Amino acid sequence: MKSPSSKKNPAQLFVVATPLGNLEDMSFRAVRVLQEVSVIAAEDTRRVRPLLVHYGITTPVVSCHLQNEQRMAEKLLLRLQQGQSIALVSDAGTPLISDPGYPLVVLAHAQGFSVSPVPGPSALIAALSVAGLSVERFIFEGFLPSRTQARQSRLRALAHETRTLVFYESSHRIVSSLEDMAAIFGVKREAVVARELTKRFETVLIDGLSTLASTVRDSRWQQKGEFVVLVKGGEHVSTFDQHQLTAMMARLCVYMPRKKAAEILAEWSGEKKNQLYGLGME
Ligand code: SAM
Repeated sequence: MKSPSSKKNPAQLFVVATPLGNLEDMSFRAVRVLQEVSVIAAEDTRRVRPLLVHYGITTPVVSCHLQNEQRMAEKLLLRLQQGQSIALVSDAGTPLISDPGYPLVVLAHAQGFSVSPVPGPSALIAALSVAGLSVERFIFEGFLPSRTQARQSRLRALAHETRTLVFYESSHRIVSSLEDMAAIFGVKREAVVARELTKRFETVLIDGLSTLASTVRDSRWQQKGEFVVLVKGGEHVSTFDQHQLTAMMARLCVYMPRKKAAEILAEWSGEKKNQLYGLGME
C-alpha cells in the first residue's frame, strides 16, 4: 500500500540491470532511464564509467556499495523526497541479486515511492537459459560460504533437493566447491559450469560433477573469470512408506474424490500422483 507521498511526489527509484560483460546487452530503456534520472547510485563509480561513456550518459554518479548501503539508502531517500529520481545499478547484472540495493528498495517502498524495475541481464538467468537442465523449478543459492566446513554443511543440507540448484562462484573457490559438490551430491550428478557468460572467453561445460571438478582443476584457464554452477536436482527420497501413504489416502478419500486426494497428497508428500491414486484403490 503506497502512502500519499508518492502521489504528490513523482520521483521514482529505478532498479536497472546492466550488461554482464557485453556492452551490447544494455536495453534501450536502461540507457534512457540512466540519462533521465537525477542521479545514478552505483556499486562502484569507476566500474560503471565505461558503460556510461559508451552510451554518452552524463548523469552524476554516487557510490552505493555493501559497506555504505544503509547510510546511502537514507541519503538517497532524501533525494527522492526532494523530487529527484534515482537509478540503482550494480557492477554487472541485476542489482540486489547477490549485490547491494536491498536497504534502498525497502526504504523507498516504506516511504511510499514507486520502485520500478528496468530488467535485463542476470548471470543466474543467463546460465539457466543455456545449461540444458530443468528450469521448471530451480533454487538460487547465491554464493556458498567461503569456509570449508560451512560450505560442506550447506551442501549436505541441499543433497536431497530435487529442484535444479544454482550457485554463484568465484575463481578462488571454483575447484574446491566443485570437489565438495562431487563428494556430497555424488560424482556422477550432472552439472554445468557456465563461465564468463556473454564475454570473449565464454565457456559452458556440461558433465558429471567429478569430471567437471577435474577438468577445471587441471586447467588454469578454466579457473579464470566468473562462474555460475548449476547442478541437476537429486532424486526424490520418500519420507513415507507404502503403508503410511495408503493410510493417508484412505483417510482423505473419506472426504473427497480419490483424484483430488491423490493430488493433495502428491503436493504434500512429493510422491507421484498416479502412484497415490493406485494406493487409493487398495
Ligand atoms: N547481480 C549480478 C547478477 O545479476 O548476475 C551478480 C553479482 S555477483 C556479485 C557476481 C557473481 O555473479 C560472479 O561471482 C559470478 O558467480 C556471477 N557472474 C557475474 N557475471 C558472470 C558472467 N559473465 N559469467 C558467469 N557468471 C557471472
